[in-house]
Amino acid sequence: MNPTAPLAVHVRAVTKTFGTGETAVRALKGVDFDARQGELLMIVGPSGCGKTTTMRMIAGLEQASAGDILFDGQRVNELPTQQRDVAMVFQNYGLYPHMTVRENIAFGLKMAKTPREEIVKRTSKAADLLQLKDYLDRRPAQLSGGQRQRVAIGRAIVREPDVFLFDEPLSNLDAALRVQMRIEIAKLHNDLKATMIYVTHDQVEAMTMADKIVVLNAGKIEQVGSPLELYHRPNNLFVATFIGSPKMNLLPGEVTDVANNVASVLLQGGATISVDTHGKSLPKGKVTLGIRPEHIELVASGAKNTISGKVTLSEHLGGETMLYVETGALAQCVVKADGLARQKIGEAVTLALPSNVCHLFDAEGRALVNGSLI
Ligand code: ATP
Repeated sequence: MNPTAPLAVHVRAVTKTFGTGETAVRALKGVDFDARQGELLMIVGPSGCGKTTTMRMIAGLEQASAGDILFDGQRVNELPTQQRDVAMVFQNYGLYPHMTVRENIAFGLKMAKTPREEIVKRTSKAADLLQLKDYLDRRPAQLSGGQRQRVAIGRAIVREPDVFLFDEPLSNLDAALRVQMRIEIAKLHNDLKATMIYVTHDQVEAMTMADKIVVLNAGKIEQVGSPLELYHRPNNLFVATFIGSPKMNLLPGEVTDVANNVASVLLQGGATISVDTHGKSLPKGKVTLGIRPEHIELVASGAKNTISGKVTLSEHLGGETMLYVETGALAQCVVKADGLARQKIGEAVTLALPSNVCHLFDAEGRALVNGSLI
């Protein structure tokens, strides 16, 4: 639908401080990333990490304290919002209650004095794309949350912007609708081939939709990468535990020996686990061993590279079972087991930690070794 080629957005060494003196808040502490043309880039991170501030600066609603925002290489820091050709979709829809769906979608075009036929054409095309044809004469109060959010997206689409900015657009929707809208936005991105920057605190949303994810934490970027890169090759403990649900299991220990590309890790619980170093050289010393719940195997006692524990909880989700296992030394492990797993609460189990899927993090939380799956 977008007739012009989509824009690339570059964020370069951007900082943002609100206020001055002792009460100053350093919301962004030097942020760098690129959304390539036509890319769906998700910015993800915990509450207060600076996601909305980043988005507002790209939109021109907030000024950067330092650094550059570039659209296709052109610095736009001083360019007012109206001249940036970005369209924003917010969490709270922002629809006009007294207008119909049709009028809401067309509002921006009308204000821009777009010719009537063009407005009709674009509104009808957007309504088709978003399956809103049957609702065009209703008012927002007569719509479900998902339909309202689609109207807000429709209003953005008809403007045919260079860049779409989504700020937690699905937060007000219930779980089922969120999943549906996720799929719809991903399809829309595929259809429009537009550059989209999307902010969320929900890592599942980011994992399922993004071409590229920027993980933000306390005003700094922890890592930028594709969903699978972040999942399988996290740079540090923050990314390792923020991405993935249930979280990566973390077991404190110490590297006691490294030989032939294998590190021996003595866990606090007492077991020694061999970890493939994939050719990396590592120092001896304190580490955290990380392993994803789906990579732990339930095996017979006596097997190699194992820890033992007791089941404290089992969650039967149908297709899979989450077993919570107390493994001693304050380490609880979550194991993603078969849907028909029969282990009972209190049962002793032996968990194998395959050497090639273990991660090791140093005392500062930096990744020393990642698994070798990708
Ligand atoms: P959330 O997920 O809760 O929306 P966020 O990651 O979008 O959070 P921001 O809204 O970007 O976070 O805020 C980043 C930091 O800047 C927070 O500490 C916030 O309190 C602060 N902040 C944001 N706007 C202002 C402002 N206008 N004045 C002072 N501080 C602000």
